Amino acid sequence: MIKANDITRKSWINYDKNSDFPIQNIPFGVFKTKEEKVHIGTIIGETVISLSKLEELGYFKSTDLKHNVFQHNNLNLFLKQGKKIWRQVRDSLAILFDANNQELQKNKEHQKIILYRIKDVINIKPVEIGDYTDFYSSKDHAMNVGKMFRDPDNALLPNWLHLPVGYHGRSSSIVISGVDIQRPSGQILPKGEKIPIFSKSKLLDFEVEMGFITGDGKDLGQSISTNEAEDYIFGLCLFNDWSARDIQKFEYVPLGPFLGKSFASSISPWIITLDALEHFRIKGEKQIPEVTEYLKYEGKKNYDINLEVILKTEQGNSTKISESNFKYMYWNMCQQLAHHTINGCNIKAGDLMASGTISGPTKKEYGSMLELSWGGTKELKLKNGEIRKFLLDNDTVIIRGFCVDKNIRIGFGEVANTIKG
Ligand code: CA
Repeated sequence: MIKANDITRKSWINYDKNSDFPIQNIPFGVFKTKEEKVHIGTIIGETVISLSKLEELGYFKSTDLKHNVFQHNNLNLFLKQGKKIWRQVRDSLAILFDANNQELQKNKEHQKIILYRIKDVINIKPVEIGDYTDFYSSKDHAMNVGKMFRDPDNALLPNWLHLPVGYHGRSSSIVISGVDIQRPSGQILPKGEKIPIFSKSKLLDFEVEMGFITGDGKDLGQSISTNEAEDYIFGLCLFNDWSARDIQKFEYVPLGPFLGKSFASSISPWIITLDALEHFRIKGEKQIPEVTEYLKYEGKKNYDINLEVILKTEQGNSTKISESNFKYMYWNMCQQLAHHTINGCNIKAGDLMASGTISGPTKKEYGSMLELSWGGTKELKLKNGEIRKFLLDNDTVIIRGFCVDKNIRIGFGEVANTIKG
């Protein structure tokens, strides 16, 4: 039992019962104050808590946390500490903010230094992301793409049911929620032509994904098994893998996605620990054909995380255009990590692995405009009569994620970015 997950715990910090960030969540992020001072932090309700200040004031003395891990501009050094320390720190925060604990609750002077209102701070990128890998692990998404672009009767390529397909992405262009996304230009082949033109992308798209952040893995040459994988997964965030379909279509043969993807991806600001999602484990789909030995796993390795996409237009209309769920992943995170390292490839603290577009079985659960407009053949109706096939300039895409049951809600907040022409 993880102490911080105790559903009966109440906090002396007040928050709404529908908050994404109850005391049972305790995510990790980085924020900046009005004075431009950077803090590593967590959040309860709408109160942002400086872990940098808590550390300075000696509140982590009961843990094995090394000195000055939180006196940095990102979480990377904390990620290097490993699962035992991650859990100790999260547990100690749950205890410190427990309604029955007087230590900080009574100390108004310390509270003034440690606590901030969410509206008085700005989140910045929580992790200096080293390597970024994007998988392609939703069966419904892979089937939809296969049906559209290849053979409807053989939508999945021959490798798909045998291994989690992935590619190495670009980490330098991963931005946080709130940063504008520049519409990319590139080489595009007009329909029926043989020579490409250079143009701004006209088929700009989002992809609903979840990303997970890793701790340090094993040495080069060693592998992480599906059984061990959870020890190396720090936490998850929402991930929008922006895609220029027209650039992607011409360039991707034979080495896969390149400039159609690398112009931007965006993440939500708070990393929700894998520990915090414990209540929401769920069994994955039975994998047929049986997978090879190193991809076999035991137990519930999928997570029931509701995902929704809201498209907000320049005119101010907000329409929910998709509702998906992380539970639909065919290949789970443990299998992805086992596959990633089976050749001896090492992973490092601050690497990000994304799920691939997460689509569900029904049309309203499709995780990209490509699928929602079925390759641009159907118009998507928005509120007040606006229509879309792909994204226009000044459109804002908002992805939200949350787990909820009768006892508890653990949310991810949102990743929201606006397209600029
Ligand atoms: Ca993707």
